[in-house]
Amino acid sequence: MKAAAFDYHRPGSLAEALELLRAGEGAAKAMSGGQSLGPMLNLRLTRPATVVDISGLAELRRVHGSASGIDVGAAVTHAEIEDGTHAPLRGHPVQQAAAGIAYRAVRNRGTVGGSLAHADPAADWMIVMTALGAELSLVSSRGTRRIPIDGFMQGAYTTVIDADELIQTVHLPPLPPDARWGYYKFCRKPGEFAETSAAVLLAPSARTARVVLGALDGAPRLLPGLAAHIAGHGSADAETIAAAVRQALPDSDAIDRKRHAAGLRRALAQAALLAEGAAA
Ligand SMILES: Cc1cc2nc3c(=O)[nH]c(=O)nc-3n(C[C@H](O)[C@H](O)[C@H](O)COP(=O)(O)OP(=O)(O)OC[C@H]3O[C@@H](n4cnc5c(N)ncnc54)[C@H](O)[C@@H]3O)c2cc1C
Repeated sequence: MKAAAFDYHRPGSLAEALELLRAGEGAAKAMSGGQSLGPMLNLRLTRPATVVDISGLAELRRVHGSASGIDVGAAVTHAEIEDGTHAPLRGHPVQQAAAGIAYRAVRNRGTVGGSLAHADPAADWMIVMTALGAELSLVSSRGTRRIPIDGFMQGAYTTVIDADELIQTVHLPPLPPDARWGYYKFCRKPGEFAETSAAVLLAPSARTARVVLGALDGAPRLLPGLAAHIAGHGSADAETIAAAVRQALPDSDAIDRKRHAAGLRRALAQAALLAEGAAA
């Protein structure tokens, strides 16, 4: 099957793109890398009257680092992050995460903003940005709003983005120099949906941690109890992890819980936060 007919626009500025989205009155759709929108158009799962190609907009392609964190433009590609094209992201945990997304052809086109907006529960950026405590700048012709990543994704393929809005920037808060990070995902082969994903960030000096489970039915789930345990004790054992998964997913079946617990142990092991003696 091929896409139904639509008007294609490649605006030269963010203001022009926002005006096209506003004028579309809900029937215009942004396209960034086209890696998810393309298949959806071809399968006619979406039938916009207008496609607004934002992939070349300079305003969405910048990365800026400062003392208050790193601002990543929504149209920066996975491959640019993987390659360390933008100096502020070199050596940052997102570089390793980007390298694990699908395969190179997808990473060359796919963008961080497109992935977050698509809100696939199995996607990498949603869980990684949740663990990092990112914030998003959403922009429309009505103005800009900045929102935390927690609560941004409302369910599978559903976010708080309005039809005339774009993600402009993803703000990564500064990482303390002693930050410990782990991210593990399991999928049967590259490019397939993740069946488990888990991420952990510990800031030992601040005694704060974030622990997140992904590849669930909807948005990634924060595990605040396990995070507090890790922040307080500096590690967690297999039993504590299994109990946290049981508490977070009481209605899931035992095999799913085992898989998620294994994902968490591996993420914690990467960050050297798995208690000694516990098998990753
Ligand atoms: C074979 C294959 C394997 C894949 N494997 C993985 C994987 O392992 N891990 C993973 O995480 N992802 C994977 N993906 C998805 C890939 O990462 C895409 O890049 C991503 O889902 C969408 O990004 P995009 O830039 O292509 O967005 P598009 O396809 O252009 O757009 C997706 C959606 O986001 C909206 N949108 C795009 N940009 C914005 C913006 N700035 N603001 C608001 N809305 C916007 C569009 O309107 C559309 O609804 C895979 C894709 C393919 C085709």
